[in-house]
Amino acid sequence: MGYLDNIPLDVLLRARGWRVCNDGCWNWKPKSLQMMIGGTRQNVARLAYKAWVWPELGDNEQVRRVCQNRRCINPEHLARSGEARPIPEQFQKTKEARLNRGIREDYATGWYGVSDLAGMYRVPVAKVEKILRNKGEEL
Ligand SMILES: [Zn+2]
Repeated sequence: MGYLDNIPLDVLLRARGWRVCNDGCWNWKPKSLQMMIGGTRQNVARLAYKAWVWPELGDNEQVRRVCQNRRCINPEHLARSGEARPIPEQFQKTKEARLNRGIREDYATGWYGVSDLAGMYRVPVAKVEKILRNKGEEL
């Protein structure tokens, strides 16, 4: 057991922070999407779901993001496996468009460099540079 284990999940998430985006996503601020809780590494979407929606989330249950934004922890955008939640219309964009938007918005915060973003979005540095160069392109 670690020293964080007695601190409510809600408090741990708030201490690290997120950024509310125009489309309602809450983009997790730290570069890593994992937190060490109770001796195991856990995805922050799972932790957010446990903190704000369903504390009893089972280890075998998956949490998905209906907005398909891999950095989002907005509980309203999270669903449990088996829970029928359609993708809201505003998020029915291509994967490429979501990637472009996410990288540009995160870069604009000034919190991350190009190599940070490449790691965060799991794409090559050259791709991040290309997305940031083509600022005028339609999203
Ligand atoms: Zn979202």
